[in-house]
Order: sequence, then structure tokens, then C-alpha cells
Amino acid sequence: MKTEAYEQLLKRQKAFFHSGKSKELNFRIDRLNILRKTIIKRNQEIMEALNKDFGKCEFEAFTNEILNVLDEIKLAAENLQSWAAPRKVKTPIIHFLSSSKVYHEPYGTVLVMSAWNYPFQLAMNPLVGAIAAGNCCILKPSELAPNTSNLLSSLIKDCFAEEHCSVVEGGIEETHALLKENFDLIFYTGSTRVGKIIAQEAAAHLTPVVLEMGGKSPCIVSHKADIKSSAKRIAWGKFINAGQTCVAPDYVIVHKKVKPELVTELKKQITAFYGKEPEKSKDYCRIINQHHFSRLSAYLEDATILIGGKTEASQLYIEPTVIQEVTWEHPVMQEEIFGPILPIIEYENFTEVIDIVNSHERPLALYLFSKSKKEQKRIIKEASFGGGCFNTTILHVGNPYLPFGGIGNSGMGNYHGEWSFETFSHKKGVLEKSFLVDFKFLYPPYKNKVKWVKRIYLKK
Ligand code: NAD
Repeated sequence: MKTEAYEQLLKRQKAFFHSGKSKELNFRIDRLNILRKTIIKRNQEIMEALNKDFGKCEFEAFTNEILNVLDEIKLAAENLQSWAAPRKVKTPIIHFLSSSKVYHEPYGTVLVMSAWNYPFQLAMNPLVGAIAAGNCCILKPSELAPNTSNLLSSLIKDCFAEEHCSVVEGGIEETHALLKENFDLIFYTGSTRVGKIIAQEAAAHLTPVVLEMGGKSPCIVSHKADIKSSAKRIAWGKFINAGQTCVAPDYVIVHKKVKPELVTELKKQITAFYGKEPEKSKDYCRIINQHHFSRLSAYLEDATILIGGKTEASQLYIEPTVIQEVTWEHPVMQEEIFGPILPIIEYENFTEVIDIVNSHERPLALYLFSKSKKEQKRIIKEASFGGGCFNTTILHVGNPYLPFGGIGNSGMGNYHGEWSFETFSHKKGVLEKSFLVDFKFLYPPYKNKVKWVKRIYLKK
């Protein structure tokens, strides 16, 4: 039944796409502006849904989910004319009297699947890119944030005709049913485990995929850093959303000399942010569900706890926690933590740090706290990761002029700002040749022409 319904929906979207309407620039800009106005009008409802799903506080809901989307829409609507304009590129002299252009063509009907941890912005930001590029879109939000999923469905109905853009709610079963259909592009945000399933199923139709996944993002603290500021920025990046952030620092690698100071400062900062009893703080979020609560609590069973460590199952609460003396064999170091637990590892020389990073899967983010340009240069040159920051955490995600995405196990493809427009567009390269001249040289019979070509080319 579901399969039939999805097939029909996709058929209608494909027909709408072929009508050319979604490609009209003014139509795209109008829809984006309507979407922006509707989000502004319903912002309180969005924040309430996020709060019901996992106790996300208003400040974080507004700044990390809503503002961010409003800015993406504004940037796209204001720049679409220039982004979508054909781009003239050079043409080698050999193609005498020709010119070349790159045209941005929408893929067609795209499927966007999003994760639960920033359930509003992770659904809306790719959707903005898809619409801006002229596509039709089916959005499948995460079933683990059901209130936000429901709200997204009603919001999209308010702004778009179903044949242009619509929401399919559901979980694994719905995902597989959708994946049976022949989409023109799939944009997926979630775990690496599921990313592999998506890529495999997409391959049946040769559908291109963009995978935005996670990983263990290291946070390096050199003895050449301002430790107090570093601690504040690490605690902020780790404990917002209770650590359930794809680009949260997963673990800290700190220079042995400054570890005691870092731990003292982390403790001070956690208390400054959330008080002595974080469970009473309105600004501290809960774990999404029992499964993740149990997974995270188990990490603490035999860990050496330096800060925090308290858990409360009935509240799905885990205190901001810092642990030490972890080995790479410990379960907490075997997978992405995705919760408010921060292991600390020591190092003595910087080469060790590079070796640690490079001996594991390439992470989505990397953070280096250091005033040393030499250490910064080494990280850029020698370590591979999706993106990151020097001397802060997470903020690279908030700059729409930077591409956001992973590499290797942490993902393929990127988005945000104009990068989203690029990701959701096929780049069609077209060369136009004048009828004025036509060199015989190019055409058969070739006889001994290759000699001349070699004489010209191999001389260089
Ligand atoms: P997930 O991969 O478990 O789920 C994502 C979606 O896939 C869900 O909506 C679900 O319906 C579907 N799904 C789950 N199991 C499936 C299966 N067996 N077959 C088909 N579909 C299935 O991810 P999650 O728990 O929602 O998110 C957590 C992960 O996402 C973390 O690894 C995190 O780092 C990553 N993440 C990445 C980004 C990013 O932008 N790179 C953002 C947020 C989260």
C-alpha cells in the first residue's frame, strides 16, 4: 500500500518537474520566501515540538535550528539569480571560434532523509538547497523526533503543493519503501551504518547519493593554547544538545603539561553553564530515547570519571561527564559517542596526535586549540577530516560560505549556502562552435595527421 502511494506521489512530482514550473527562477524565490515567512509565523510551535521531543531549550532551538534555516533561505533567495546564471568558462584555443558555458540543471525529484538530533534544521537546510536548485522534493524526517516530524509535515503542506514538495513520515519500513522508487538524487543525514544501506539501495537505480554522516571528531588541545578559553569553547560544543551533535568534539587529546588545568577549567565552565545540579538547568537537554540512554550509561560503568557521571533513567538524563584513562579498546572509543560524555587522552608530542587522527576513520570534524601556526599548518597538511575549527568548536557549521560535509566514513558531498545549490544541481557543460570556420584537420581521413599533432604537442 505504502509502495503504491509513494509511487503515485513520485509520479506526480516527476510530472510537475517536467512541466518546468519548479525550474522557474521567480517561482523558486517565491516559494523560498513563503517558506521563510511561514517559519517566522510558526516559530513558537517549532520550538515547542523540539522541546517535546527531547527537552531542547528555547535559546538553542531558536539559534541552532530556526535562525540558521532562516539565514539559509534568505541567502538562497537573494543570490539565486547569480547562482543560477550560466557560467562562462575558458575554451582552449584548439577549439577556435568556440565558447563554453556551465548550466546548473536541477536533478529532478530528490529524496531528503534527515536525522533526529537537529530535526528541524537537518530537514530544512537540504530542502532549501533542493528547492533553490529547482528540484521537486520528498522529505522523510526522523521518526525519533515525532513532534518535529509532524510539524514539518504540516509546515511543508502550508508552503508547497504536494507535487512540488511533500513530507513522508515514518521509520525504517517507510525508508525502504521510498528507496525502491527511482529518485534522481538522495540526500541522507544519519549514521554511517545506515548510510551504507542507503547507498546500496540507491545503487539499484544508479541514483547519486549525498551522505552526511558522523564519526569520532577529535579535539586537540596544545600546551600553546589559552586553556581557559579552550575549556569554555569545548564544554559549550560538547554539551549543547547534551552532546547529541554530529560535529561535537567526541574526545579530547590534550598535551600532558596542560591536562590538569584543562580539567579544572572544564569543571568550572560546566558549573558556570548549567549550575551545580545540571538536571535542574532549563538549558540542558535530555537524551533522545531509552536505547541511547542505556548505550551511553553503559560507557560509564567501568570508566574513570573526572567530572559528572550522574544518570537518571526516568528523566533520560546524563550529567555532563568527563572521563580519563580510556584505551582505544574501551567501548566508548569504539564508536561515535553522540552524548554528553567526554573522554580525555594525553599526548606528549604533536606527531603522536597526527598519528592518532590518521590511524582511525576520517572524522566529520576536527578541532585544534593552539596559537602555533606551525601546529595549525601540520593539521591542515597531515590530517584528513570533513571540516573543523582552530581555537573553537562547531562554528564552521554556522558559516554558510564554508562547505559542510564529511570524507570517507563521515560522508560524501557537502552543502550549506551556495554549496547546497551546487550539490542539488547537475552541472551541464556546453560548448558552442561558430559555423564560420571548419578545419579539415579534425576529420577523417587522418592519413599522417597524427605526426603533425605529435610534432606540435610533444614539443612543449
Ligand atoms: P540513523 O542512521 O540511525 O537514522 C537516520 C534515518 O535512517 C532515520 O530516520 C531512520 O528512519 C532511517 N533508518 C534507521 N535504520 C534504518 C535501516 N536499518 N534501514 C533503513 N533506514 C533506516 O541516524 P540517527 O540516529 O538519526 O542520527 C545519528 C547519526 O547521524 C550520528 O552518527 C550523527 O553523527 C549523524 N549525523 C550526522 C549529521 C551531519 O550533518 N553530518 C547530522 C546529524 C547527525
